[in-house]
This record gives sequence, structure tokens and C-alpha cells, in this order.
Amino acid sequence: MIKVFENFDFSRVGQMQSLLESHGIRTFIRNQYGSSVMGEVPFVEVVPQLFVLRECDVERAIQLLRVDLPRKDDKANWICPECGADVEGVFSLCWQCGGGRSDP
Ligand SMILES: [Zn+2]
Repeated sequence: MIKVFENFDFSRVGQMQSLLESHGIRTFIRNQYGSSVMGEVPFVEVVPQLFVLRECDVERAIQLLRVDLPRKDDKANWICPECGADVEGVFSLCWQCGGGRSDP
């Protein structure tokens, strides 16, 4: 097994697993129940980690992840071009003036 991805956000790791599985790559997540034992084990031990089972799939897996990873930036905060408000990345409209983000 080769670790190809890890993230404290389990849903993120799950997304990556779905992505790889949809391309026929067998994967395995370790520490997926980490949040339930948080505090009982060292923090670093409970980061959900995504493993690829077959070494021959690793290169393709990493390429797929690399393509997908930039989407993480969609969740970054953005500054409203209309009023300058700091808006959370999960919203596509400004909470203050209703303006849309400038870049799609
Ligand atoms: Zn605004």
C-alpha cells in the first residue's frame, strides 16, 4: 500500500477515494474513524490517509489527485469585487451586497 493523500478533512479524503475508485483504482483509507478517538491518540495519528493498494496504480492516482486538488482553492475565502467584503469560499454570492465573485 502506498499513501497518496492525507487531509484532516475526512470528507475530502473520501472525495479523493471516490475519484480514484471511479477510475478503477483500488484504494484504502486508514484512520477514517480518527475523529471518534481524537484526544485518545496523538493528533498526528488520526489524519485520514488515502492509500493505493497496487503500486502500479500509484502514478495514475497521483496524476488524478493533482488534477483534482486545485478545486480545494474554490473553498478559499474571496473578496467581493463590489463591496470588498471577505466572503467564505462555500458561498458564491456576497453575504453583504449579493454580488457574485469575479472569477468563475
Ligand atoms: Zn459585496
